[in-house]
Amino acid sequence: MTAAEGSGQLALALDKARSRASQAALATGRRPETVKLMLATKTQPAALIRQAIALGFTLIGENRVQELVSKAPVLADLPHRTHLIGPLQSNKINAALRHVECVETVASLGLAEQLSRRSTDRPEPLEVMVQVNTSGEPTKSGCQPAQAADLAAMVGALPGLRLVGFMTVGLNSPDAGAVLGSYLALRVIRDQVVASGEAGTAEARELSMGMSGDLELAVQAGATIVRLGTAVFGPRAPAT
Ligand SMILES: *Cc1c(COP(=O)(O)O)cnc(C)c1O
Repeated sequence: MTAAEGSGQLALALDKARSRASQAALATGRRPETVKLMLATKTQPAALIRQAIALGFTLIGENRVQELVSKAPVLADLPHRTHLIGPLQSNKINAALRHVECVETVASLGLAEQLSRRSTDRPEPLEVMVQVNTSGEPTKSGCQPAQAADLAAMVGALPGLRLVGFMTVGLNSPDAGAVLGSYLALRVIRDQVVASGEAGTAEARELSMGMSGDLELAVQAGATIVRLGTAVFGPRAPAT
């Protein structure tokens, strides 16, 4: 395949993803612009991400700090925003903070406090989301749903951070109703927190949820950011 054919395919896949998200929004009475498409770029080379950014898809989600660090210089001249959507270990915080506008995977007060301490001298506050394990699957990261509102209130009050919303990795199941339920659970938490009046929670409106296989369900439940990997880039090489 030539490079031109490759970028034609990418443009097509991006178009298709955007129209899926738009259809899903319209089907539930929402304006398509209320749903942002994030490219989940794990394992994808920076050159391909550059093509996607050039096509107007400027919201990037990376899972691993190592990949963030290696791709950032190659993307630096293009306007884009990067969110960390994978787990963050303490020893990688400084490296991550140099390259992200938002950490979506805050699941403990301990991590939030570390991020806060290292963010007080940023020109802009670090955006954060509270990650919630809405599926109950033990392999998934995130705080328990019952703890999410308290955690959000504590995170919202920390200096250097701006709580912008909530993130979840939905239930992995063929049962659409159950998947929708896991997404609605995150929306209920968001609505409760935004209505709480707690300091630093009024802007926590984002719902980052939904992936290639289930974005329609997430949008139906209120997703404002859907995170798309395979729908845009095709199947990933197996993790190494
Ligand atoms: C890989 C990944 C996605 C995208 O998954 P696809 O099924 O490839 O669309 C979304 N969110 C997170 C946290 C991911 O790790």
